[in-house]
Amino acid sequence: MNRERLANGLEAMGIAADRRAMERFEAFHAILDEYNARMDLTAVLEEDERVDRHDLDSAAPLAKGLLAGGAKVIDVGTGAGFPGMPLLILKPDLRMTFLDAQQKRIGFIEDALSRLELSAVTLHARAEDAARMAEHREQYDAAVSRAVAGAATLAELTLPFLRVGGVSVAWKGPGVAEELTHAKRASFLLGGCVRGVLPAPVPGRDDWQHVLLVTDKTGKTPKAYPRRAGLPGKKPLA
Ligand code: SAM
Repeated sequence: MNRERLANGLEAMGIAADRRAMERFEAFHAILDEYNARMDLTAVLEEDERVDRHDLDSAAPLAKGLLAGGAKVIDVGTGAGFPGMPLLILKPDLRMTFLDAQQKRIGFIEDALSRLELSAVTLHARAEDAARMAEHREQYDAAVSRAVAGAATLAELTLPFLRVGGVSVAWKGPGVAEELTHAKRASFLLGGCVRGVLPAPVPGRDDWQHVLLVTDKTGKTPKAYPRRAGLPGKKPLA
C-alpha cells in the first residue's frame, strides 16, 4: 500500500488518521490481495488507484461531518467492505453493520474484522429482507451505500433501516442530476426527504466528479416498504 498517498489524501480531506488506522489500512489491503488471489472478490486495482478509489473515496462522509461519533451505521451492499471498512478503520467507535446478499463477501468481511481486531455486525441478507427484521428496521442513525443501485432503488433499500432523524448517504457520480427527480419522489414515499448533493472530491482526482446524495429520514417508512426482494431494482418506486 502507498502509505504516503493515503496519509496525504486524508490530510487534504481534513480527516485524522492515527498510526493504528494506517496499520489497519495496510493489513486490510494485504487481506484483500490474499482473497483476490483465490476468488473474484473485487476489481483488482493498481496500488495508487486502490488508495484513491477505495480508501479515500469511502472516507468522504467524514470530511463532510455526516457521521457522528458512536453512530449506528449500516453499509448496504458492502461488497468487499466499501465504504464501511475504511469508515470503521478511521472511526472505530462507529457501530457498523456490514450487509451483503453474497455470503462469500460477508465471509471475507468477518475474517478481515477479526484479523484487524475491529468489532462490527455482519449480515448475509438482501436489504429488502433485512429491513423487515425488527432488530434492523428503523434502528440506524445512518445508511451508507456505494455502487449498489440507482438512486430511487437505493432509497427503498436504505431508508427503511433509518430511525426518524437518521441520514442516508449514497455515493454517486456526475449523472446524479438525472436520478434526482425519481430519488425525491421515491424518498417521499419512504419517509425521506432529499437534503442535497454534496461534492466529494478525491484529492488529485479532479476528473472524477464524485458526489454524495444525502437524504434525511423525516417520517416513518410505511409498512408496505421495502417491497419483496428484487422489486425495488426491477420497478423503482418513481
Ligand atoms: N459497495 C461496494 C463497493 O463500492 O465496492 C460493492 C459494490 S458491488 C458493485 C454491489 C454489491 O451490492 C454486491 O456485493 C451485491 O451483492 C450487493 N447488493 C446488491 N443488491 C443488494 C441487495 N438488494 N441486498 C444486499 N446486497 C445487495
